[in-house]
Amino acid sequence: VELERLGIQQSVDAIFPPAELATDLSVLPVEVTVVDEAEIAGCDAVVTRNHFEALFDVEWVHSTQAGVDRFPLEAFAEAGVALTNSTGIHGRTVGETVAGYLLAFARRLHDQLASATERRWERPAWDEAFTLPGTTACVVGTGTLGRGIADVIGSLGVETVGVRRSDEPLPEFEAMYAVADLERAIADADFVIAAVPLTETTRGLFGAAAFERMRSEAYFVNVARGAVVDEPALIDALEAGQIAGAALDVFETEPLPEASPLWEMDEVVVTPHAAAYTRDYYRDVGELVRDNVGRLERGEALANRVV
Ligand code: NDP
Repeated sequence: VELERLGIQQSVDAIFPPAELATDLSVLPVEVTVVDEAEIAGCDAVVTRNHFEALFDVEWVHSTQAGVDRFPLEAFAEAGVALTNSTGIHGRTVGETVAGYLLAFARRLHDQLASATERRWERPAWDEAFTLPGTTACVVGTGTLGRGIADVIGSLGVETVGVRRSDEPLPEFEAMYAVADLERAIADADFVIAAVPLTETTRGLFGAAAFERMRSEAYFVNVARGAVVDEPALIDALEAGQIAGAALDVFETEPLPEASPLWEMDEVVVTPHAAAYTRDYYRDVGELVRDNVGRLERGEALANRVV
């Protein structure tokens, strides 16, 4: 790949101002510009959040997200478009967000914040609040997100087991289960946390059977993608008291439709697909892109290559 023009597609402004990344990348020996949809075709490489048909005319596409489920992977492969993703940068941010959810449930902060917006001085019932040491979490998906989550909640005293395709252990987890054993892995956990990529095998992974298997005191957390959960089944499980509550950053439809019952549930925390947000996001992406431009110059393979 001969890189002359690298575009920063405007869709990244959902996460950071495109100009911040353009400035960060201005040290590169290539022309870096912010591009709208019509200007994509004039670039050799594009950093983008969203997919556009014009990306088929580009040699290398870099996704600002770790999840690449929005890109047509097979069609890119056929067209000879290289795709890299931003896995590796979200461990601490998402880990801290998940720790925040767990602390909210344990210390009843979500409840008290809700009361405070209505100026109500309302304490938790005597047996509602608890502390995290001694609780257990099952993290499904043990990559950057899963390990970052295990690291941060581990420092709060939560004992964490992992689930991946194989049961090969990892140092961040007390035990490891293969995904074929998902129902056994989640059965004893106080917190079940989804951190897997959305693929044809993980679509709907958390359905009625999984929620039936969870403890009725357990909380479900989704920081992966909405479609790894059967959302109607989750709503049923919450309404039936089969599980205690949920913290959800991602949904089948985003933004979460106003009519969704999830907005109204006392024990459901809804966040707007923002678990990985940080003011340093453009710098983290910039580092990945600079590293890969260097690799291209040296004739080396791209890091984080998906297609
Ligand atoms: P990684 O590629 O680092 O990790 C994914 C992990 O999932 C791998 O370790 C893999 O382990 C495991 N895995 C893959 N397929 C399966 C399966 N069928 N069953 C069980 N485990 C599986 O990705 P990240 O951790 O960086 O990101 C994970 C996903 O989280 C992204 O794809 C994205 O959708 C989402 N995400 C959401 C964010 C948010 O803002 N809410 C931010 C960043 C990511 P093994 O190979 O051992 O099976």
